[in-house]
Amino acid sequence: MASGGGNNRNGTHRNSLKGTTTTSTASTDKPLSVNSNPSKPAFKNKSSPLTGASSGLRKSSPGSLGGGAAKDDAGVPGRVRVAVRLRPRNAEESVADADFADCVELQPELKRLKLRKNNWDTDTYEFDEVLTEFASQKRVYEVVAKPVVEGVLDGYNGTIMAYGQTGTGKTYTLGRLGEEDTANRGIMVRAMEDILAEVSPEIDSVLVSYLQLYMESLQDLLDPTNDNISIVEEPKSGDVSLPGATLVEIRDQQSFLELLRLGEAHRHAANTKLNTESSRSHALLMVHVKRTVKGREPAHSSDNGNSTSMARSLRPPLVRKGKLVVVDLAGSERIDKSGSDGHTREEAKSINLSLSALGKCINALAENSAHVPVRDSKLTRLLRDSFGGTARTSLVITVGPSPRHRGETASTIMFGQRAMKVENMLKLKEEFDYKSLARRLDIQLDKLIMEHERKQKAFEVEIERITAEAQNRISEAERNYADAVEKERLKYQKDYMESIKKLEEKWMMNQQNQGNERKMVHIAEEVAEVKKLLSKETSLRKAAEEEVDNLKSQLAQLKMSEALANSEILKLQKMVEDEVCQKEKLEGEISMLQSQLLHLSFEADETRKRLDRGGPGKVPGGLDSPVSQVRSQLKDSGNGEKASVAKLFEQVGLQKILSLLEAEDADVRIHAVKVVANLAAEETNQQKIVEAGGLKSLLMLLGSSEDETIHRVAAGAIANLAMNEKNQELVMSQGGISLLSTTASHAKDPQTLRMVAGAIANLCGNDKLQTKLRGEGGIKALLEIVKCGHPDVLAQVARGIANFAKCESRASTQGSKTGRSLLIEDGALPWIVQNANSDASPIRRHTELALCHLAQHEVNAKDMISEGALWELVRISQDCPREDIRTLAHRTLASSPDFIAGLKRLRIDY
Ligand code: ADP
Ligand code: MG
Repeated sequence: MASGGGNNRNGTHRNSLKGTTTTSTASTDKPLSVNSNPSKPAFKNKSSPLTGASSGLRKSSPGSLGGGAAKDDAGVPGRVRVAVRLRPRNAEESVADADFADCVELQPELKRLKLRKNNWDTDTYEFDEVLTEFASQKRVYEVVAKPVVEGVLDGYNGTIMAYGQTGTGKTYTLGRLGEEDTANRGIMVRAMEDILAEVSPEIDSVLVSYLQLYMESLQDLLDPTNDNISIVEEPKSGDVSLPGATLVEIRDQQSFLELLRLGEAHRHAANTKLNTESSRSHALLMVHVKRTVKGREPAHSSDNGNSTSMARSLRPPLVRKGKLVVVDLAGSERIDKSGSDGHTREEAKSINLSLSALGKCINALAENSAHVPVRDSKLTRLLRDSFGGTARTSLVITVGPSPRHRGETASTIMFGQRAMKVENMLKLKEEFDYKSLARRLDIQLDKLIMEHERKQKAFEVEIERITAEAQNRISEAERNYADAVEKERLKYQKDYMESIKKLEEKWMMNQQNQGNERKMVHIAEEVAEVKKLLSKETSLRKAAEEEVDNLKSQLAQLKMSEALANSEILKLQKMVEDEVCQKEKLEGEISMLQSQLLHLSFEADETRKRLDRGGPGKVPGGLDSPVSQVRSQLKDSGNGEKASVAKLFEQVGLQKILSLLEAEDADVRIHAVKVVANLAAEETNQQKIVEAGGLKSLLMLLGSSEDETIHRVAAGAIANLAMNEKNQELVMSQGGISLLSTTASHAKDPQTLRMVAGAIANLCGNDKLQTKLRGEGGIKALLEIVKCGHPDVLAQVARGIANFAKCESRASTQGSKTGRSLLIEDGALPWIVQNANSDASPIRRHTELALCHLAQHEVNAKDMISEGALWELVRISQDCPREDIRTLAHRTLASSPDFIAGLKRLRIDY
């Protein structure tokens, strides 16, 4: 046993091989290497002085089965490397075993596995590698398979086997294609990747067979018809070959993956046909690698130093042949020999045969037995050249965590231990502090490895993509550059042509200029002549200009004298205009003075009147019409008054006074209208005023002026003029009603309203104008005016209504009017009834009269009763101070059937 092998871990031993001159066939011809170490390397005690050396060997020296004997002539220690891999709990176990601890516990940092015997006792085993449930596929490959694959590439045979109970992950470890996740690729796929990366396709070859061994019959998974392949053993070399098996040359990974897929499909089909499960059969992948060693002489060539170069060139190249066998073993669980699971006893024996033969061989080797029964089964025969010698063998034993399969797990572990040729069952009680930390770190490391691998793959793809893209861009840039260069070249060519053309033109021009110089001398002479003529002309023109200046000054003198005369004329014209102006001004002043005189004499009259009446504020009793007021004022004033107005007439003239109604000056207009109003109060003047157009002017003034005084005085004058029938018609025909009602609607002073109401009241007393007056809104205007509430105003309204009612009554009696009273139609009745018992006697008297007139006609009776006029009539017939009215009311009540009925209904005793 080489103690120096202690450092030869995994990849490092390969280097040591390279230095040798061993050929592939130089391996041992012993069938399976015999363990030359007579002592059993089993250790019951950790403290044994041999333990360290032993475990050092176990952990670090991969190689053929046989431990100490394995140090062959190539100096490679040979022993089966055994790794244990724990499958994570699957979904079913997570549920079913939720309350139980796993039956195994791994201590990867110590490369130990603890198998729980019961609640308080565990057995501890050491392995070359302990792979936890978190171990990545990459790590498993590197630990278990990579050294073997490297050996194969160097020309050694190698075997990788997976042993374990069905469902513990043998196929997962070996056969995963990793299509769904590249990180899941199994050992077969990764091994081929490494092989293909190393070989040169032109000179090397990789040939693959894929087989299944079931009930001692060897079937070709690449050609299902080929189902009984025989094994041929070379007696001399001990090499094993299968001449009947299909060999497929592999050039790239893709075709290998397809081959595996095809084999898997055939395996499935074959098992269906045989009515068995793949767990009952062994799957074997054989990879034959043949490599030409570059730059190396065959071993014997160096023996002879005189060999010529020709001889060298004739020498065959040095080739290395290696064979890799990957075996996915049948499930290690025992088959029921009773036949209860559907197999006959013979079948069961046959199914188990290869696996148990393998076990026996391993046992024999482990126990250094003289006889190793390799010939007992096809499997051991097949693997014969894979054990011992320069061959390397790795075994993965797969276990599950479930305590329910503790028995199977234990037997798997024992198989692994025997393969390591170790029987020890170290019971280690002590724990290490760093244990859990190391475990965690390990798990993390595996995760990182997995992640790294995924990223690496993605990175490679990305690099490829970027490279392709960059290539595209470069070629595009090159194209663009070429285009640009071409364009630039064309442009310069064009510019060059143009400048050539320009130079030619210039040259032509120069040629022409030389001819022109001669002409120039001739022209200069002509110019001198022309200059002479020009100076002559200039002096002539100067003389003419002087003449013109002379004439101009004469003209200016003439113009000046003319201007003087003109200004004289203008002065005279101005004087004339001033005179005219002065005259007009004087005339204006005269009329102003006249109007002032008029006003003063009017005011003097007023004052005089007031003095005559015995002081201001005294209202003549019993008079309610402004007309009669004015008239009485005039009458009261006596003859002196008349004389003053007559004097005014004489002095100024009616026409002049009326014209002042339209004067520009507002004061003048006010004075004038007051004078006119005063004159209109006198009956003798009324006709003259109307004839001179005074009524028209007054009505116009109502419409045009905005001054309330003017409105008030003019309305008073109109009221006075509207005393006789003819004037009333005139007022109506000139739109008097609308002018008066507009005036009323703008009025603020109750006296204005009194004048307006007085004027309308006068019109109401005209029989002929009833319909027109009502049609133009006369009644409505009166009813608007009452809103003012002033008793003087209300008295005028009441007078108007009484006048209207009287005329209507007369017309009804004469038969010229039929139907309801227009007063009732226009809604005057409520106001009449309301005011029939007014405290102000003028109001009361007129409304009482109006009620009596309305009551005369049966058509009005119903409305009157409903408006409450019946009570008023009864009251009038009893209380009215005027006897004639009392009698009228009484007679009416007594004669009207409607009233009689009404009285009865209201239980008025009458
Ligand atoms: P065997 O070949 O030993 O009968 P399989 O390789 O078919 O077992 O594995 C059985 C199941 O367990 C499969 O579904 C597989 O995907 C799963 N499995 C096995 N080993 C692992 C593992 N290390 N990680 C995750 N799943 C695993
Ligand atoms: Mg399987």
